[in-house]
Amino acid sequence: MSVFATRAFNNHEQVVFCSDPITGLRAIIAVHSTVLGPAVGGCRIWNYAAAHRNAPVDVAERRTEEDAIFDVLRLSRGMSYKNAMAGLRLGGGKSVIIGDPKAVKTPELLRKFGEFVDRLGGRYYTAEDVGSKPRDMEIIHEATDYVVGLEHGAYATGDPSPHTAKGVFYGIEAAVKHRLGKDSVKGLKVAIQGVGNVGRDLAAHLREAGASVVIADISKENIERVLAGGPAEVVDPAQIHAVEADVFAPCALGGILNAKTIPELKAKIVAGAANNQLDDEDADDWRLRRRGILYAPDYVINGGGIISVESEVHREKLDEAERARKVRRIADTLEKIFVESDRTDMPTGHIANEMAEKIIDARRREIAAAAE
Ligand code: NAD
Repeated sequence: MSVFATRAFNNHEQVVFCSDPITGLRAIIAVHSTVLGPAVGGCRIWNYAAAHRNAPVDVAERRTEEDAIFDVLRLSRGMSYKNAMAGLRLGGGKSVIIGDPKAVKTPELLRKFGEFVDRLGGRYYTAEDVGSKPRDMEIIHEATDYVVGLEHGAYATGDPSPHTAKGVFYGIEAAVKHRLGKDSVKGLKVAIQGVGNVGRDLAAHLREAGASVVIADISKENIERVLAGGPAEVVDPAQIHAVEADVFAPCALGGILNAKTIPELKAKIVAGAANNQLDDEDADDWRLRRRGILYAPDYVINGGGIISVESEVHREKLDEAERARKVRRIADTLEKIFVESDRTDMPTGHIANEMAEKIIDARRREIAAAAE
């Protein structure tokens, strides 16, 4: 199969296939761009084969690999755009380990993966993602220094979730100002899908600012934790996107904005933390625009987490004031996107991608000019 011809290929600098017969490691590391700095992005451990269980073995193997390649290419490009839009000195990368985390995740396999990351010599830094946990990063760290999001160590920045939640809160304020002409969220209703690490803190910020929250989660425990902090209306997870609210904040998994759910939205704004909210990046961006719903591009509004770990990559002492300033700037970046979207009548996701590409291209030209 082809990598260069894959739909998600976008002039990625380097794609590394890693395999080890002893530990059973099958992994792909994609370095999309190091123009702005070392490529950073999480390590996803995912059972890509599950979707092809009923196919003949050879077909299932091919499709499993195709899905993993597609994911790593798409996600690594997304990291380049996210880091560019957050104004960071970081490029974009991502890695995937193929397999059910419960079955494949042994310390030996993680260390072997760390060795492959190490061989890239700092062009790629890995981090926690779906299927991997902070303690897995500690094991990978035994084989390489190119890991961020560590809990201990001189440059550890700690849990990024509170910073992500703060950034989403500022982003909601910016969207409310732009779309509803209001200076605050006071008196508004926000529907939050998923009240885990980010959604829970977001609910607290919103309530503190005088908004009411409607929440849904498949975890009773997480619902209870939010209710322990103050009032919230609880609805069925299948209904949360369609409730009467001013803002819909997806903070669970990707793909919630699609051909079925978008026509059912009542909120005029979608602004939340989840990655890959648009099921079809192009079509769903347009669907939202056509319905007059203001969409805060996910990788821009959820940039607080990566902002939080930037100093760890550069082995710099954390400057908390600078981190807070960058998180606050998410609101200004979104406002620029909203204005440009109105001016050009193009959807906000398209505009964000264009802006990110311009930032990377400008830096690429600077580097080329300096080398001449
Ligand atoms: P989390 O796992 O702590 O929380 C997700 C919550 O969503 C859980 O409570 C889960 O039970 C719930 N959930 C899952 N499926 C659901 C469904 N169908 N309906 C309702 N609830 C459902 O994750 P998190 O760290 O809070 O991150 C939330 C989202 O934000 C994820 O998409 C993540 O990739 C993205 N994100 C997180 C950060 C961060 O700093 N944590 C940074 C950037 C992006």
